[in-house]
Amino acid sequence: MSESASQPPLNPGQVQPVNLLGMTRAQLAEFMASLGEKPFRAQQLLKWMHHRGVDDFEEMTDMGKALRAKLKTVAEIRPPEILRQLDSKDGTRKWAIGVGGGNVVETVLIPDGERATLCVSSQVGCSLDCSFCSTGKQGFQRDLTAAEIIGQVWQAIKSYDGFGAKKRIVTNVVMMGMGEPLLNFDNVVAATDLMMDDFGYGLSKRRVTLSTSGVVPKLYDLAKVSQVSLAVSLHAPNDALRNELVPINKRYPIAELLEACRHYIDCQPDIHRVVTVEYTLIAGVNDQPEHAHELAALLKDFPCKINLIPFNPFSLSDYSRPSKNATRRFWEILTKADFVTTVRTTRGDDIDAACGQLAGEVVDRTRRNARHVLRASQGKQPGLPEEIKVMNIP
Ligand code: SAH
Ligand code: SF4
Repeated sequence: MSESASQPPLNPGQVQPVNLLGMTRAQLAEFMASLGEKPFRAQQLLKWMHHRGVDDFEEMTDMGKALRAKLKTVAEIRPPEILRQLDSKDGTRKWAIGVGGGNVVETVLIPDGERATLCVSSQVGCSLDCSFCSTGKQGFQRDLTAAEIIGQVWQAIKSYDGFGAKKRIVTNVVMMGMGEPLLNFDNVVAATDLMMDDFGYGLSKRRVTLSTSGVVPKLYDLAKVSQVSLAVSLHAPNDALRNELVPINKRYPIAELLEACRHYIDCQPDIHRVVTVEYTLIAGVNDQPEHAHELAALLKDFPCKINLIPFNPFSLSDYSRPSKNATRRFWEILTKADFVTTVRTTRGDDIDAACGQLAGEVVDRTRRNARHVLRASQGKQPGLPEEIKVMNIP
């Protein structure tokens, strides 16, 4: 496996070049000021990197030779490296992205007519261990840098049809890949700012969505600095059930979470904002009519739309996907209760690119993966695929 994101050893006294790819407009302006340059240089740099996909200072012809030479000695533009690409028969494409030290995160592009949504990872693994999520079972290694997060967008555009294409392939970004975005707050805010900056990717705030499992204090922080669209992973209509599925609920129960979401919406300058409530339907666990009725009562008067996600199976889980009828019944109850309710279609499951199937390769600091693999091999799933058995056991 390549370790492209790790650096060659530096000579004593040699300064590590600064990676400019993940810097926001303000951060770049500050950096250029530290070199004695005017703030408009930041805009030029942003356009070269994010409009034209340029990663070589030599190509930046509207900057003088001396400045280009200076930049080359103190800075670099270094996206994470694509290691593998997998194409689903439904058009979904998944990239395995190397982030050094044997760690791999995954990025998924889901084309849909005129639009294409890019699902971006924020961490190597996830520490939160939701019971139905493959990423959680991989354990946790580290936060991605802002360059590694925005670098997934950069690489997806470059690799799909290039920066020169007439129409940009990525029209929407969802922070729904590996990791909990609010636990990597600064880097996620910087990267999403770049997605929405006109000198970056110029996406509207309605087309950049951050999904959280409910890190309540960080939602209040987010309200102060960001305008991204918010999705919240609810998955249960009461605390007893949510405690089982989403362990962070024991720290920040549903009432506190919904209050924080409402605060976030109230802080937004535009009206008609709603929270997307994500609800993964797991057969026999949270998909019964009584759950739907309880959910409708819970969310009455809450500014939201509901997105139902039929559970996507993976090898370390013994949950199963509900039948089409059970899903439809659940949808009907919510729809009749006047909620705008959608069912997320499963895309890319032949390449393990569907929601919750992203596992990457996580050199697990938490040893959680080893525990899950052991439990599964002792219990109900003796036939785990070989790569799962051998992967990431420290
Ligand atoms: N950590 C964030 C974002 C990543 S998960 C969060 O939890 O919101 C993105 C979405 O996929 C979440 O709603 C998550 O609950 C859902 N998901 C995770 N595992 C799943 C699975 N196996 N099947 C269906 N959806 C899943
Ligand atoms: Fe982490 Fe989200 Fe998966 Fe939960 S669902 S383990 S928060 S990535």
